[in-house]
Amino acid sequence: PVYLDHNATTQPAPEVIEEMLDSLQKVWANPSSTHAPGQAARRALTDARTRVAQFLGCLGAELVFTSGATEANHIAVLGALAQGRATGRTRLVMSAVEHPGMLALAERLRGEGVVVDLIGVDARGVLDLQCARRLIGDDVALVSVMGANNETGVLMPVAELAALAHAAGTFVHVDATQLVGKTAARFDAGGADLWSVSAHKLHGPKGVGALVVRKGLNWPALFAGRQERHRRGGTENLPGIVGFAAAAERTARTLAHDMSHMRDLQGRLESGLRAALPGVHLYGTGADRLPNTSCLRFGTLDAEQVLGKLERAGVFASSGAACTASGTQPSHVLLAMGEPALHARASVRFSLGRDTTAAEIDQTLAAAVRALGPLLHTVPAPAE
Ligand code: PLP
Repeated sequence: PVYLDHNATTQPAPEVIEEMLDSLQKVWANPSSTHAPGQAARRALTDARTRVAQFLGCLGAELVFTSGATEANHIAVLGALAQGRATGRTRLVMSAVEHPGMLALAERLRGEGVVVDLIGVDARGVLDLQCARRLIGDDVALVSVMGANNETGVLMPVAELAALAHAAGTFVHVDATQLVGKTAARFDAGGADLWSVSAHKLHGPKGVGALVVRKGLNWPALFAGRQERHRRGGTENLPGIVGFAAAAERTARTLAHDMSHMRDLQGRLESGLRAALPGVHLYGTGADRLPNTSCLRFGTLDAEQVLGKLERAGVFASSGAACTASGTQPSHVLLAMGEPALHARASVRFSLGRDTTAAEIDQTLAAAVRALGPLLHTVPAPAE
């Protein structure tokens, strides 16, 4: 089978598993303990912190290890609101195409009376900076956007947005979960105050990630406690953090090569599908995109049907459209791009990894032609 769902998660790298096992077996003491084994664990934590910081382009002291990007996003948003209460900054601005976890948090906060405004995107899926300019004012506690969209792979104009936010005196948080490991983006070069990242998107373990908090910011904690300089209470997930460090180092070593390798295969997949099948529509064209993500639809075939056919042909992909008891729910990302629900229910995402091979792409093309070709020839091809 061919796994093309790397934006959902990636396989832990061998060196990640090896270092995690070693940590579990040998460095299992509590890093807060003052005895020798505790101090050894403390040193392992410091070492891992340095390695992750080096990869992300931040200081070790700027890293707050969390259970993943979802938690990091929560600390960013809820911390900004907590601080804003004192300064009269009570409004939140985020994008309409954020990760579902972030939009769910926004919904919950709205229920509690917080005003959350969403920046729209254009037809390519790029953040609308005019809209952002209108929404960002001096009552805003935080502007939060993703660096790259997980469904379309479209890169967001983060530097421009950060300039707008900083001009209004507000903080900028970037959910960099999909940027890391697929672009050369670094925290110190991006202009953001806060960054969320997750280890399992770069061949690290699940359940570990980080919030990068720019030096000098005193960000309130969600979980009280002494760990992580009082910014995230709870005994540190040392094996996870060590695995994160191993993944970061491994990723850094081959990033330039992996990016161009994935870009080549992305082109091979996209041009191959378009040449072989009628009615293939690719999203995000004309925008800068991640080198591994292709979001497209096959005419108006329902995503659920397409994914089922592909899976039976040995290809695992995914969709922004969610399958529910009442049918397929359209992707909120494609709706925000102005697509009708019929199309937003049809979008399929292929996300490649650094280990994806040309042979696997060719296998995917053959599977798509075999599984979807007969269906596409019987539905009218929509106007492109
Ligand atoms: N943000 C983005 C953009 C994502 O793609 C994901 C991945 O699912 C998340 C956040 C959630 O990350 P985690 O699984 O570490 O909570």
